[in-house]
Amino acid sequence: MSFPMNVSVEYAIAALERELKQPDAREVSLPEAYGLTLARDLSALVDHPSLDDSALDGIACRVEDTLNASPESPTLLELVGEVAAGSVFSSRVKPGEAVRIYTGAPVPDGANGIIPVEKLEFVGNGVKVFQPARASDIRERGSDFERGQIGLTRGTLLNSSTLALCAAMGHPRVPTFRPLRIALLSTGDEIYEPGEDLPPGGVYNSNRYGLEAKIRSLGHQAIILPRTVDRVEELESALSSVGEVDLLLTSGGVSMGKYDLVRDLLIERGEVKFWKVALRPGGPAMLGRWNNLPVFGLPGNPVSSLLVFEIIVKSALYKLLERKDAPHRILKARATTPFKSVPDKRAYWRAKLEFENGHPTVSDFVDQRSSVLRSMVENNALVVVEAGQKVEAGNEVEVIWL
Ligand code: AMP
Ligand code: MG
Repeated sequence: MSFPMNVSVEYAIAALERELKQPDAREVSLPEAYGLTLARDLSALVDHPSLDDSALDGIACRVEDTLNASPESPTLLELVGEVAAGSVFSSRVKPGEAVRIYTGAPVPDGANGIIPVEKLEFVGNGVKVFQPARASDIRERGSDFERGQIGLTRGTLLNSSTLALCAAMGHPRVPTFRPLRIALLSTGDEIYEPGEDLPPGGVYNSNRYGLEAKIRSLGHQAIILPRTVDRVEELESALSSVGEVDLLLTSGGVSMGKYDLVRDLLIERGEVKFWKVALRPGGPAMLGRWNNLPVFGLPGNPVSSLLVFEIIVKSALYKLLERKDAPHRILKARATTPFKSVPDKRAYWRAKLEFENGHPTVSDFVDQRSSVLRSMVENNALVVVEAGQKVEAGNEVEVIWL
C-alpha cells in the first residue's frame, strides 16, 4: 500500500480539511452562539442610530443662533422643553429656542447643533450658552450602520464584540455553523484515568483532558470514548462503534513501535491519507479513514498531541469554517538563546515570550522532550525553526504566541 509520507505541515492541514465536511448552518440564540462561527453574512435590520441623536447631555438648538456665543459674551436662549433617550420632541425648535437634551435622545426638528451641559448656565426659563452649538455632536441616523448593510460576514467568530453587534443590528438569533462532533479515543495499555490507582508503569491520561479542552475552546463538541488497550480486536471494535461524528481523533499508537496499532489498523484495513509530518515534536501524526470516518492519529506524547492539534487540527478546522481570523498570533521576536534546527523538519520549540520595553524577546525552555508537559505550561510561545535555519542569540525568529 502506498501513501504520502513525511508531508509538510501545510500539506497535512489541507489534507485534513479535505477529509472533513463543512457542517450545516443552524440558527441559535445569541447566548448560545458564543464561541461559534457565523455561517452567513449578517445585515442590519435597522438604522443605527435610528434617528439623528445627541452624543451628549446639553441642549439642542440652531447653530446660527449661537455663532457669537463665548465665555465673555454668552447668548441667551429660551428653554422650551426637554427630550430624553427613548422619546421624541413633539414640536419644532424655532429661532432663539433651545431644548434640554440627553445622550441618545433624538434631536428635535429645527435644531441642528448641540451644546454640552458644561458650556451652559440655566437661568429661569432660559439658558446662557458660552460657545456655539456644534453639528458634530449630532450622531446622524445610520452613521454607525444602515438598514440592509452587511455588518458581519460569514466566518466571523462570535465573541463579545461581534455578538453585541448582532444584537445592535436587531438579530435575536443568528446562523452559525453547527459545532463539529469530534470523538476522542485514547489508546495504550499504560493509560489510566486520574482518580484510578496507578500501577507501576502506568500513566495518567493527560491527552484526553488537554485535547477535550482544545476542542471545546474552538466551540466544537468533544465525545469521549472509553480508552482502549493495545489489542487489535479491541481497537478495531472501538473504531467500528464510534457512531455519528465528524472526526475521530486518536491519541497514541501511530509511531514506529510494535504496539502502535492505530497505524497498523489504518494501513492494513482502513485507508491512509498520509503518515508522518515533517515537524517536531509530533512527527508520527497520521491521517486516514475508517470506512466513512475521518481519523486523525495524534502521537501519544503529551506535548506532541497538544502541539499537533494546535498546529494542524486547529488550522484545518479554521479553514473548514472559513474563519476570518487567523488561528495563531504570529510575530517576530529577538531570540535571547540559540534554538536548534532539526534536519528535514520544522521545529516548534516551547519558549518564553516576554516584552522588554515593548520589544518582544524569546528564550528557550531547557527541557524540550515531548513528554514534558511542563514545557507547555511554563511557556507561552512556540518558536518556529525551519530545517537548516540557524538561530543564534540575537537573531530574529518567528514566534507563535499561545
Ligand atoms: P505512543 O504514541 O502510543 O507510542 O505513546 C508515546 C508516549 O506517550 C508514551 O510514553 C505513552 O505512555 C505516552 N502517552 C500515550 N497516550 C497518552 C495519554 N493519553 N496521556 C498521557 N501520555 C500518553
Ligand atoms: Mg501507545
